[in-house]
Amino acid sequence: MSNVEIPTEQWAQVVEQIGGPAVYKKIAVGKPGPDEVLVNVKYSGVCHTDLHAMMGDWPLPVKMPLVGGHEGAGIVVSRGELVKDVQIGDHVGIKWLNGSCLSCSYCMTADEPLCAEAQLSGYTVDGSFQQYAVAKAAHVARLSKDISLEAVAPVLCAGITVYKGIKESGVRPGQWIAIAGAGGGLGNMALQYCKAMGIHTIAIDGGDEKREATAKLGASAYVDFFTSKDLVADVKAATPDRLGPHAAILLAVSEKPFQQASEYVRPRGAVVCIGLPAGARISAPVFETVVRMIQIKGSYVGNRQDTQEAIDFFARGLIKAPYKTIGLSELQSVYDLMKSGKIVGRYVVDTSR
Ligand code: NAD
Ligand code: ZN
Repeated sequence: MSNVEIPTEQWAQVVEQIGGPAVYKKIAVGKPGPDEVLVNVKYSGVCHTDLHAMMGDWPLPVKMPLVGGHEGAGIVVSRGELVKDVQIGDHVGIKWLNGSCLSCSYCMTADEPLCAEAQLSGYTVDGSFQQYAVAKAAHVARLSKDISLEAVAPVLCAGITVYKGIKESGVRPGQWIAIAGAGGGLGNMALQYCKAMGIHTIAIDGGDEKREATAKLGASAYVDFFTSKDLVADVKAATPDRLGPHAAILLAVSEKPFQQASEYVRPRGAVVCIGLPAGARISAPVFETVVRMIQIKGSYVGNRQDTQEAIDFFARGLIKAPYKTIGLSELQSVYDLMKSGKIVGRYVVDTSR
């Protein structure tokens, strides 16, 4: 076990300047610090966040040059001397939250995504678009060895994030959720988690390919934002009593859905903001928000417990969202597709090619 051979060089995708492109090249393999592990990443999902990081379009400074990626699934090949509960050979996931201080009031109460010292994979520290990545042992997702590293990769951000968002919505089995951006990576996962929880879904996205894909994943209705003349009315009409869904989960990478949702959720409904379109703002009419008792909130990834719960749904065979696997060397082509909104589901990169 201890004699796993670790190369000194590896293949990686490196963003050398804001705006990109990502460059496939050889770089040095990192060394784990005392509380860290080195993970031989086998597969990594590609999240729209990776594109935001490359474009530098958020009001949060990004490391440059940058190795992106935060849906990495792989095997631990070495560990620092303080690491006791992760063994060499263990299967683990590298997620967005690479590490946190573990001692602030947020970390102590399991709200570690809110830690002011949080380190973010593929953003403030190098992430999973490389063959060997360093991560804090306390935060790596624990994966049992019978789980496919390829199929679980998109769960490590998309899955955890939507699972948490559904919990934050307060919606219960038998009720309705509208999902804006349902045809994308997070959206496909959200449809599957809702289905597993017995929640009805209204998928909102554009085009017939996404209509078909979301129907296969269990959506009860589809509203096409390309063609709908009155999206608010169409979403309301999709619920049996025409009062609208109990919540909206907003995953789209555009501002419009953030303006519409408070109008189509039913009284006492929740609007859960997850997507992060650059420079966007939310607005809602004060009068209707008050007299209809609407809740508007944000939801940001998940904590370590959410992580293990989201993975457990997957391990039980309840979450089957489509993905396409390509070589790590082809990463830039995924960003090109993503920019045009053409991706249905998730792309996963195989780091061996
Ligand atoms: P994606 O590109 O795979 O999917 C986005 C989808 O939104 C696409 O299917 C697109 O067609 C659709 N869309 C665009 N405009 C729309 C509109 N007006 N109405 C309905 N749908 C519309 O992206 P993704 O990887 O699923 O990520 C989605 C967003 O979530 C990104 O901004 C990402 O950074 C963010 N994100 C947030 C968190 C968090 O913790 N809050 C975690 C992960 C990702
Ligand atoms: Zn992500």
